[in-house]
Amino acid sequence: MKIIEVLSQSRRDFTATIECESCKKTKKLTSGYDDGYYHSVVIPGMKCEHCGESRNSLKEKGFFGDRIPEGSSPSVPSWVVI
Ligand SMILES: [Zn+2]
Repeated sequence: MKIIEVLSQSRRDFTATIECESCKKTKKLTSGYDDGYYHSVVIPGMKCEHCGESRNSLKEKGFFGDRIPEGSSPSVPSWVVI
């Protein structure tokens, strides 16, 4: 899943609309926490409730061909303060 729109944010807690990279279904995320771990570990591990895929499972299937270089974190949106 990936964040497509942040709906509200209070300190580090946020709600957002997230989208499945596989089936493009969206859902509301109500338990977001704005830190590097959440964006780099928790969100990629979230399974879509429609198709059961997560960003991690898609990567294992070769869905994302480009490997993310060490030291960079392109999945973290620019508004994130780590
Ligand atoms: Zn899906």
